Amino acid sequence: MRALVKYAAGEGNVGIREMPVIAPKADEILIKVKYCGICGTDLHIEADEYPNTPPVIMGHEYCGTVVEVGADAAGQWKVGDRVVGELHTGACGVCELCLAGKPHICNQKLALGSKYNGAFAEYLTLPACWAHAIPEGVSWEVAGVTEPFAITNHCLRERGHIQDCRSVLISGAATMGLMSVVVCSYLGVRDIIVSGTGIDRDERFPLALSVGATRVVDVTSENLALAVKQVTEGRGVDGWIECSGSPAAINVGLKLLKKTGQAVLIGLVGKPSIPIEWNQLLYNELDLFACFSSPPSSWEKALAIEAAVAPQLRQLVTQVIPLENWAEGFAAMRRGDGVKILVDMEA
Ligand SMILES: [Zn+2]
Ligand SMILES: [Zn+2]
Repeated sequence: MRALVKYAAGEGNVGIREMPVIAPKADEILIKVKYCGICGTDLHIEADEYPNTPPVIMGHEYCGTVVEVGADAAGQWKVGDRVVGELHTGACGVCELCLAGKPHICNQKLALGSKYNGAFAEYLTLPACWAHAIPEGVSWEVAGVTEPFAITNHCLRERGHIQDCRSVLISGAATMGLMSVVVCSYLGVRDIIVSGTGIDRDERFPLALSVGATRVVDVTSENLALAVKQVTEGRGVDGWIECSGSPAAINVGLKLLKKTGQAVLIGLVGKPSIPIEWNQLLYNELDLFACFSSPPSSWEKALAIEAAVAPQLRQLVTQVIPLENWAEGFAAMRRGDGVKILVDMEA
C-alpha cells in the first residue's frame, strides 16, 4: 500500500513509500482509511522538531471503514463500521494515569503517526480499544476533524469550564482557535472574541464569524484591550482560551482576563520558557488549565455533539487533496492558508 513515511531521522526525509498491509492481531482491527488530516505536528515531524522514530507512517487525524476484525474484537466491531480513532497507542493500561482515564499522557505512549505507524496510508492496523463509531449523519469530512475536536472538548469542557463563561477571548484563529469558537458557541457563551493577525483577515476571520464568533480583532491594526473592555464593560473576559503559542499574545491575554477568570492553555510555545507577569496570576486569583491532547472521555464528549455542530465543523475543512499532493498541503499549512486540509487516501 502507499503511505507517507518519515523514513529517516533528521530534517525532511518524508516521502511516499510502498509499505506492507499488516494483518490485524486478535485484539486489533484493520481500517481502510478515508481521510487523514494534516496537523501542525506533522510539520514538526517533517522538520524533526517533534519526537519520532523512523521509519514510521505519519498521520494521526483519521477516519475510515473497518475491513477486517481480529477474533477478540469481533463483539465490538464488524466489517463495514465507520470509525474514527485515538492516537494513544502504546499506552500501558496499568499505570496510575491510564487507570485514571488519562492514557494520552501515559509515559509508555507511542503516539500514532510519530512513534507508531499512522494513517497517511491506505490501511491502518489499530488496537480495537482506540476506535470509536462515527455518529449517524456525520459526513466523512466532519469525521476527519474529530481528533482536534476531541482536544477542544477536553480543553474547554474537561480541563476548563467554559460553559460557566459569558464572555471569552480566543487568541489565535487557526484550527484550535476556530474549533474553540464552535464549542463556545455550542455551550452558549454570549460574547466570543477572536484575536489574530493580518494573515487571518481574508479567510479565517470570516470563518470565525461564520461559526459563531461575535467579534474578531486583528491585533496588528486594532486595539484588542479596548475591544475587550467595550464588550465586557471594563471587567475583562470570564475565560481566555490561548491557542496562539505567541509570547506576545500570552502576555496580552493574561491582562484581559477578569479577576478570578479562567485561562485555558492550548497553544505550545516555540521556546522552552517565556517571560510572563507572574504576580498577575496571584493578584487576580486566576485559574490556569494547562491542556494536552485528548483522553478517551473527551472523544465521547466530542462524538456526542458532533452531529449537532457538523455544519460548523464542515466549514473548517478548507481543502481536500490526494496523497500525491502532500508536499503542497504541508506547504499550505506552513503558509497558514485555510484551516484544515484533509488528505483523501482513496483518491
Ligand atoms: Zn494533530
Ligand atoms: Zn499507562
